[in-house]
Amino acid sequence: MMLGLMLARGGVPTTVLEKHADFLRDFRGDTVHASTLTVLDELGLGTAFARIGARRVERVSVQLDSGTYPLADLRRLPGPHREIAMVPQWDLLNLLAEAGEREPAFTLVTRAEAIDLTWHGDRVSGVVYRHAGEEHRLTADLVVACDGRESTVRRRSGLRTRSFGVPMDVLWFRLPRRPEDPAGLLARVSRGRMLVLIDRQDYFQIALVIAKGSAGEIRARGLDAFRGDLAGLLPWLADRVDHLSGWEDVATLDVKLNRLPRWHLDGLLCLGDAAHAMSPVGGVGINLAVQDAVAAARILGPALRGGRPAESVLRRVQRRRWLPTVLTQTGQRIGHRALIASRLRPGERPDPTARRPAVVGLMQRLPRLQGVPAYLVAVGVQPEHVPAYARRDA
Ligand SMILES: Cc1cc2nc3c(=O)[nH]c(=O)nc-3n(C[C@H](O)[C@H](O)[C@H](O)COP(=O)(O)OP(=O)(O)OC[C@H]3O[C@@H](n4cnc5c(N)ncnc54)[C@H](O)[C@@H]3O)c2cc1C
Repeated sequence: MMLGLMLARGGVPTTVLEKHADFLRDFRGDTVHASTLTVLDELGLGTAFARIGARRVERVSVQLDSGTYPLADLRRLPGPHREIAMVPQWDLLNLLAEAGEREPAFTLVTRAEAIDLTWHGDRVSGVVYRHAGEEHRLTADLVVACDGRESTVRRRSGLRTRSFGVPMDVLWFRLPRRPEDPAGLLARVSRGRMLVLIDRQDYFQIALVIAKGSAGEIRARGLDAFRGDLAGLLPWLADRVDHLSGWEDVATLDVKLNRLPRWHLDGLLCLGDAAHAMSPVGGVGINLAVQDAVAAARILGPALRGGRPAESVLRRVQRRRWLPTVLTQTGQRIGHRALIASRLRPGERPDPTARRPAVVGLMQRLPRLQGVPAYLVAVGVQPEHVPAYARRDA
């Protein structure tokens, strides 16, 4: 959507195919980081985004068995946005869709599922998609696979990902939030278990990190045991865990971390999760996908106005986004290891007298250091800026 909007503004006829009828899917990304807020400003959409009424997070803390500690202070960020905005992903996508509608070169086709690629010799020449029960062919100078971590287009292209082991999965659910509850983003970590609460005003969207492949075992223990585990981690949730009335209220995310060694073929480019599925650590998936789109628009816009871009131009997009992808995924893998290393052995009980980890102590003693994780997560390794041709005033 982001790339489609920018290219259309640059006069490149662009069609976005979306297999669903709308963007209303729950338990998707919520965190719109400072880097993405800056992109929205540059697109002239900052004021419209502000009207959505996102919850704003300026500080992130973690609650360990030994106490609650600050982790990241976003007020220390440079630039106008010193926060993370929390919005359901559909609000952001609807905003982009509305902006797209105003561009004559932009077309969004919903209920359109890409099922295959078309080829001209070794070159990708378009896609086959299914819409209203019929198959259609769309010929294009360039096909961009932005169809997420299970990308059909990538699979049909023959490009293969390199996968990295991930020791965890995530259970997602929601519980009511009361006005006196903590606001913003709260992480509770206790010996290998982690609960992240995202404040959505009248409810929390909650992620519970579990050991890889253990969702079945947790279900087998029963809902009461699960409710008890939650209340054990955060006792103030005990008065509302009964709102989970069945396992259909709990969604399982099979966490994956992978990337394509090569993001392109002649006529095809993969971006976002289709090029690099991210772990939920840091909540950076949306923001990296947006940064990919901005870099691609800057590099591809002028080339596409001249017709079909050479594969060397597509390679430039991958080169530009390679380092931020690899560094961010490496940081996520270090995060996984730290979490798993603190896991309870069988029979062991959490120790409330446990000392705080050294790095947490350092952050407390030197609060300026809290700006470092804030920058790495909210701005990222390589922030991108909207090309002049796609910029608008608010
Ligand atoms: C449960 C969950 C929670 C997450 N929480 C966060 C978070 O808090 N913060 C964050 O930054 N990231 C989060 N992420 C990751 C984030 O959602 C992704 O990294 C990000 O959305 C990637 O964007 P994308 O455009 O590459 O792919 P997606 O957002 O996955 O978009 C792909 C789109 O393509 C459509 N599609 C798929 N196949 C086809 C097809 N064959 N034809 C046509 N359309 C198709 C899909 O319907 C979808 O709309 C979360 C992910 C999950 C699963």
